[in-house]
Amino acid sequence: MNRKYRHTVIAGNWKMNQLNSGVKVFLEQLKENMPKARACDVVLCVPALMVPSMVRYGKDCRVAAGAQDVSKHEKGAYTGEISADMLADVGTRYCIVGHSERREYHAESDSLVNEKAKALLAKNIIPIICVGESLEQRENNLTMEYITYQVCAALSGIDAQQVRHCVIAYEPIWAIGTGKTASAEQAEEVCREIRAVIRRLYGARVARAVSILYGGSMNAGNAAELLSMPDIDGGLIGGASLKPADFASIVASASQD
Ligand code: PEP
Repeated sequence: MNRKYRHTVIAGNWKMNQLNSGVKVFLEQLKENMPKARACDVVLCVPALMVPSMVRYGKDCRVAAGAQDVSKHEKGAYTGEISADMLADVGTRYCIVGHSERREYHAESDSLVNEKAKALLAKNIIPIICVGESLEQRENNLTMEYITYQVCAALSGIDAQQVRHCVIAYEPIWAIGTGKTASAEQAEEVCREIRAVIRRLYGARVARAVSILYGGSMNAGNAAELLSMPDIDGGLIGGASLKPADFASIVASASQD
């Protein structure tokens, strides 16, 4: 973490879990467990229909509402889709794009991820852009090449002013939901490279201002070590964000110096 130049962000990803009726109780329990003095932004990315509850009850404990996906289209005949304008209208502050589960199960391409990020920026929603290599790519020493490609593709056509409002999440696919975490050194190495790519594209001032998160089985036990790395500015957390005490403990780790 480097609080001097950028925000520390702890973002939960509930995926398709929890119920709208449970949001208030969850946040009450989270509030009880979270440190009063916090040095990070706390976000919960929830299914779109739970966003209004997250906005309403999250105010009290300073938890921002995030979504998990958005349409690339502004509006129109796109049954089932949710636009950035609709997300903004109900108070969404962040939205994940390019999560590996969407890339895999919904065949989302890098150019679609880019279009979604732009749609969000146009409505002042912070995109949390996910990138990450497969186990096969890692074993074949293709990690850096692939991550560089993904970052460049995701940021194509996004200008320096806008990129300061983007968050990048490095999520090695082999570490998501598997209980296998990248070591702090492995995660730092890739996050540092992502910052180097941003530096090449936008210059040093912009690169040092962009928050880069690690995601992949981050939990209460390993968060402190991962967050102690200079280029890891927070976490995107799946499983551990479903338990208030565990998520609060990660927030506490992110609030320590
Ligand atoms: C995720 O879904 O973004 C994620 C990192 O999940 P988990 O923490 O469960 O590995």
